[in-house]
Amino acid sequence: MFEMTSSKQYEAVIGLEVHAQLATKSKLFCADATTFGAAPNTHISPVTMGHPGSLPKTNKKAVDFAIKMGLACGCTIVKENYFARKNYFYPDLPKGYQISQHTTPICAGGAVQIAVEGQKRLVQLNRIHLEEDAGKSIHDIDPTHTLIDLNRAGTPLIEIVTEPDLYSADEAFAYVTEIRKLVQWLGVCDGNMEEGSLRCDANVSVRLKGEKKLGTKVEVKNLNSIRNVKKAIEFEITRMIEVLEAGGTITQQTRSFDASNDTTFAMRDKEEANDYRYFPDPDLAPFVLSETYIDSIKMGLPILPAAVEEKLMNQFQLSAYDAAQLCDALATVQYFEAAATHTNNFKSLANWMLGPIKSYLNEAGLDYSHLALQPATLADLIKLIDAGQLNFSVSASKILPQLVDGKKTDVLAVATELNVLQVNDSDTLEAWVDAAIASMPDKVIEYQKGKKGLIGLFIGAVKKISKGQADPNKVSDMLINKLNK
Ligand code: ADP
Ligand code: MG
Repeated sequence: MFEMTSSKQYEAVIGLEVHAQLATKSKLFCADATTFGAAPNTHISPVTMGHPGSLPKTNKKAVDFAIKMGLACGCTIVKENYFARKNYFYPDLPKGYQISQHTTPICAGGAVQIAVEGQKRLVQLNRIHLEEDAGKSIHDIDPTHTLIDLNRAGTPLIEIVTEPDLYSADEAFAYVTEIRKLVQWLGVCDGNMEEGSLRCDANVSVRLKGEKKLGTKVEVKNLNSIRNVKKAIEFEITRMIEVLEAGGTITQQTRSFDASNDTTFAMRDKEEANDYRYFPDPDLAPFVLSETYIDSIKMGLPILPAAVEEKLMNQFQLSAYDAAQLCDALATVQYFEAAATHTNNFKSLANWMLGPIKSYLNEAGLDYSHLALQPATLADLIKLIDAGQLNFSVSASKILPQLVDGKKTDVLAVATELNVLQVNDSDTLEAWVDAAIASMPDKVIEYQKGKKGLIGLFIGAVKKISKGQADPNKVSDMLINKLNK
């Protein structure tokens, strides 16, 4: 690994381009389905293939989704738009050109809030534009041929481009995490990185601290997980500093990430700007968005994560940490709010949702939209704990597993059946407490001489005698009372 041998202080500068596949049923310019995993080359109408005489028609839903994302990021929505042809040859580009927004991205500017170690900051966006995806070249099925699947060609994408306004791999990690959450929250993209619904290109440069001019950048292409975004950037920063320290210069390059050893390698040096011969697509009429139309989409936006966090802190007195955790997805917040109508113990509700239930969901690979346990049932469980009839750890380890599939909703019945209800009737408790005290006369004397820490020992004894059925709060009060007499 590279070691800093010089006193020079470097700063990394990063700009990210995130491609998000829009969750429309059909493609950007034709009715072909966008379903993932279909048999190869089965959703390739003449429009997708660019056959002569075929006519593309813009999918309104895709435009709406792009506007939604733009509004959520505080972008300016550009009213006069057109699509251009970006001409180049590539085997997975059947038409010989990609339809994209060239000089008129539908959304300009804007910002996305990230939090790194609790510090919040706005990352400036350059633009969000619409474009169609290319097909897929498959290199790992046939040893001597590249196979082409054109199903993906023409799928709508938005490309979300930041300014060079990220300064560490951790910030980039936080940013992509936030983008993923936001597109899912808005329902404009499923955010599934394994299936390629969200892909990221990372532009990285380094410069001396205090330097205003940007250093020469490299672009690491097609990062398909948030972890890889972070690893690729970490590797690049170290590599570039190493080159500079050795007296070298950075070559502007396009690079690729090798996930097998967390390194990047050069694919090509960036030639002088490619000439893509952009021109407005003559088959697609420019489209103009009215203020009223944009407003109607604005009205339909869900409440955004940042606003919900505030709400959870103000209305439910949750900590900033809990609020942020509960805002990891819209479904999580919705579940919390639904359960909060049945209990006032919001803190306990948050603990349950972020602790035992989350572990269960993670293990099952599910999220809150899939949870069969009804919010009201969870609230009942919390009520029984608050009433001293159940303790938390038994509830989490024994009762929750009986409830998660949603089939049983009577918590008291489940607890009775499992024989885990706590006893809090005073006479029984007193008998257990007395038995515990009687079993350790010498400890009683030590306690009374001031070794108050022994209280834990007595509580433990009661726990044992009662087989865990005694309400520990009451037991502790009772013990202190009796021992201090
Ligand atoms: P290109 O034409 O190579 O695609 P752009 O100017 O469109 O370059 O920028 C692409 C991305 O690279 C943007 O996210 C931008 O913020 C980022 N970027 C541009 N220059 C730098 C740089 N010197 N260092 C880091 N990121 C950069
Ligand atoms: Mg680029």
